[in-house]
Amino acid sequence: MIAQVVPILLAFGANLGDRGETIVAAQTVLAGEPGIRNLVASPLRETIALTTAGPDPDAPRYLNGVAKADTTLTPHELLDVVQRIEAEHGRTRDVRWGDRTLDIDIILFGGRAVQDDRLTVPHPRAFERDFVLSPWLALDPDAVLMGHGRVAELLARVGDTTRPLTAVSDDRASAEHPGVPDAR
Ligand code: ATP
Ligand code: CA
Ligand code: CA
Repeated sequence: MIAQVVPILLAFGANLGDRGETIVAAQTVLAGEPGIRNLVASPLRETIALTTAGPDPDAPRYLNGVAKADTTLTPHELLDVVQRIEAEHGRTRDVRWGDRTLDIDIILFGGRAVQDDRLTVPHPRAFERDFVLSPWLALDPDAVLMGHGRVAELLARVGDTTRPLTAVSDDRASAEHPGVPDAR
């Protein structure tokens, strides 16, 4: 049987370590993973940390981006892969929405809705997160978030507090990544 090819959207975040290097490295591993192809990454944007107490200007700032790809994996196989890559980059889970070296969320898995103990897709909080919507809009001006509508309209509603990268090292890491479109 030929496996079904499904378009996916992943979101990346990091606020510890060399953030841009980590995200680009994770995207490169994903692009080479069996069952994942055609990965195209968005530009990275910088964002004030969102904690359970709200935005925290004193916490290390995040870099965020998204990437689209096609997969023949199942949703749970994809979750296994992204969690393995998070672990390979030193991701720990101590505090909810705490500082992290790498976070990878599955935002969309084709037109599928998944809801169980491990996985909720579409990601239930993506519609209200500028740090997901803003890089996504840069990657795909016509993007639609299943169940919520056009990304351009969602971002206009929440407001965009993200900003383009300025740090030299992060710029270099993104520029060297073949999947990042020359959008900045
Ligand atoms: P948020 O989900 O609000 O962005 P977070 O990314 O900080 O928070 P994590 O600690 O990374 O949360 O993940 C907690 C659990 O969420 C994971 O162990 C995973 O099983 C589950 N999860 C549910 N839906 C998804 C999804 N769409 N993508 C990634 N993980 C998911
Ligand atoms: Ca997340
Ligand atoms: Ca996560």
